[in-house]
Formats: sequence, structure tokens, C-alpha cells
Amino acid sequence: MQMKSRNSGVAGEGSAAGQEQLKPAERETLMMELSRRVQETVRLSSWWERRGIDCTILTAAFISLPAGFLLLSSSEPLCFLLGLLIMGFAHAAITVKGTHLASHGALSESPAWTDFWAVFFIEVCGSFSARAGVQAHVKMHHAHTNVIGLGDSSTWKIPFLPRSVYLFIAPLAVPIITPIVALGQLKGQSVFQIVRTIVCVFVGFFSQYYLLRSVSGLSWSSSLIVMHLCRAMFSLPYIHVNIFQHIGLPMFSATSRPKRIYQMTHGVLNLPRNPLLDWTFGHSLINCHVEHHLFPFLSDNMCLKVKPIVCEYLQEKKLPYQEDAYLSRLRLFFNNYQQLMVFAPPITELVGVQ
Ligand SMILES: [Zn+2]
Repeated sequence: MQMKSRNSGVAGEGSAAGQEQLKPAERETLMMELSRRVQETVRLSSWWERRGIDCTILTAAFISLPAGFLLLSSSEPLCFLLGLLIMGFAHAAITVKGTHLASHGALSESPAWTDFWAVFFIEVCGSFSARAGVQAHVKMHHAHTNVIGLGDSSTWKIPFLPRSVYLFIAPLAVPIITPIVALGQLKGQSVFQIVRTIVCVFVGFFSQYYLLRSVSGLSWSSSLIVMHLCRAMFSLPYIHVNIFQHIGLPMFSATSRPKRIYQMTHGVLNLPRNPLLDWTFGHSLINCHVEHHLFPFLSDNMCLKVKPIVCEYLQEKKLPYQEDAYLSRLRLFFNNYQQLMVFAPPITELVGVQ
């Protein structure tokens, strides 16, 4: 198999030479064979492994909130800072890990609970429209990963911003931008969905504000500042992770897209384990992103459990298993900002796999 790029650019790295020896029948069964191995592991896993661990981490984030509110009422600077950190961590776990797993329906097997958790996490906690969130992430980004014009991560690009502003300053405005974008996404939705989203986003904002006023005893301006600091605490890695794992990797055209296993192994990258981000963002967004794109219905813990199976299988079949360090990716984006974030990405064709 060869990789051909229609433009010059960084895409084209990680070629999986060697696939040309595979017969067509073998190519057909590559994804089926991997799915069979992964499904077998899922079948033999307990509820605790499949959902329990991740539900417990999210519950712990909610349980830590009262301590956060109480510590924020302290006049001791260290206690206040600890309260701020607890609330920032909890907010990241709930709004990144929680909303992501909820958008994939990975928190429950029941369809009714899946819908409930999606609305609760995405709208009440994440200040975004559940319908638009699921549509953009699951139905577009996952279904059309790195396909230009569909799932090419271009929504993350703001080409008129200089690289330092984009990478280190603009992300701090994410808590303000998110509900504004959510309002724009309401266009075309039913009256019920519009009212539900507005009410849920308001309930989420107001409940945190009310508790900061009443439990922490903060003034209205301090409450708003604390809310922003907590919500923006993980904004930088949030934006970074979203661009690091897809942009700069092979991009495909909608008319000649490769088979799913090639699309995901070439267009997705894993970051190394990181205790801070493993807990707040979840494995599926950090060190198991490849596994998550191949099996998006799995919870974070199950992605971690099947990781050795996926890694070994891809290496066995001489397919790429792309990994890079956070700082190495940051350096790449900083040094190649124009190429990666401003110019149109080049299209890669995986010749010989179609
Ligand atoms: Zn996802």
C-alpha cells in the first residue's frame, strides 16, 4: 500500500507500507477480526469494568463539589485556592469526560437513561445543545474522521488568530464562547428542544452562581470571576487535545475515502498517559483515542483495557498505531501553525487499499 498526498505538507507521515501483500479477502476481514477480539474482551468484562469505574469517577467529581464550595468561603488564601482547584478539576471531569461519554451513550445501556445523561451532562453541565453536540461529535467527527468538509476538525481552526493567541490565550474564552455558539446551534431545532436547552443551560449556570453566593458567601462579581476561573482551568489542554490528535495527520476526500480501519489508524493519534488528563478528560480523549475512534461505544476504562489488543493487532497487520507526546505535538503546531491551522489541508489517498 502506498500513501499519496495531493499537496505537499506534513500529512503523509506514518505510511503503512506492507499492506500490498494482503489479499482482498484479508482486507475485508481486518476490522471484523479486530472487532471480534475486542467484543470478546467486552463480553468477559464485568459491569464495574464496562461502566462502573467511569461512573464512579464522575460521581466522585460531583461529591467533591460541596468541599469546593465550602473551601471557597474561606478567608485563608491556601484554602480558597484549594477550593478553586477542586472546582476546576470537578468541572473538567464533568464537562469533558462526562459530556463526551454521555454523547456516545457510554454511561448507560438503557436508551432513556442515555438521552437523560446526554441532556444533563451536555446542556446543564456543559452549557451546550445536546442535539448539536451529538450531531457534531458523534455523527460528523466520528463518522467522517479526517474527511475534508465533513469531519476534518476545521471547526477548531481560527486562521486569523496568531499562533500564540490561538494556542495560549483564546482558549481561556471557551467558557464564554460555548453558550454563545450553543445559541447559534438552536436554529432549526424544535420549540421543545430550544426551550429545553435554554432552561438547562440557565439552570447549570445559575445553580453554580447561587451556591457561590449563598454557600461560599462571595459577592456577585467574585462569583462570576470564580465561575470563569474554574471553567477555564482546563481550556488550554481542551483545545490542544482536540487539534493535536487529528490535524496534521492524513486527510481524506469524501469521494475516495479509505475503509474504516485505514481511516482511523491513519487519521487518529494517541497521546501518552497523563494522570491529570486521564481523570479529567478520560482515556478515550487522551491515550486511547485510536481505540475510541475504532470502538466509540466503549467507556474510558474499556478503551484502556482493549488498548493492548488493538495496539498488538495493528502492529501485527503492519497498520500504523500513531502516538506522540503532548509537548512534541505542541512544538509541531507552534512551528507549523500556518501549514496546519491556516492553509487548506492536503488530501491523502491510501493507494492500494480501496
Ligand atoms: Zn468521541
